[in-house]
Amino acid sequence: MVCAPAVLAVSAMGPASAEEKSPEIVQPARRDREHFIQRAFEMRRLAQQRGDQAYGAVIVKEGKIVGEGVSGVLVKPDPTAHGEVEAIRDAARRLGTNDLSGCEIYSTAKPCPMCETACYWARISRMYFGASITDGGAPRYPSC
Ligand SMILES: [Zn+2]
Repeated sequence: MVCAPAVLAVSAMGPASAEEKSPEIVQPARRDREHFIQRAFEMRRLAQQRGDQAYGAVIVKEGKIVGEGVSGVLVKPDPTAHGEVEAIRDAARRLGTNDLSGCEIYSTAKPCPMCETACYWARISRMYFGASITDGGAPRYPSC
């Protein structure tokens, strides 16, 4: 069964404070690229429901979603709260490390230069984006 949006809304919000534990991420029924990108698009829908820009992302490590990101640029407001950056922050918090080596990011659109650079600094191994699951390769710095 695919997760209900209400569950996603809770998990994608993250904790209210650093001390608060993040709600557990509900994993997709199948752990493959199609389901991971579908989850990124669920994050995108959540962003739209909140009245934010339509972007979302998830971070996967060893076949498991370890971070979810919903654009918060308008709602927070925070010009750096792109879906990818929010997913990186969530994954780093949940894993307790700033080193996301071995992780993949699934994003609803091609990561912008800021997000690709953030992926680079987080040591994310590979980027996939869009409904057709384009393989963006390893993040580069600078990415132009
Ligand atoms: Zn971005």
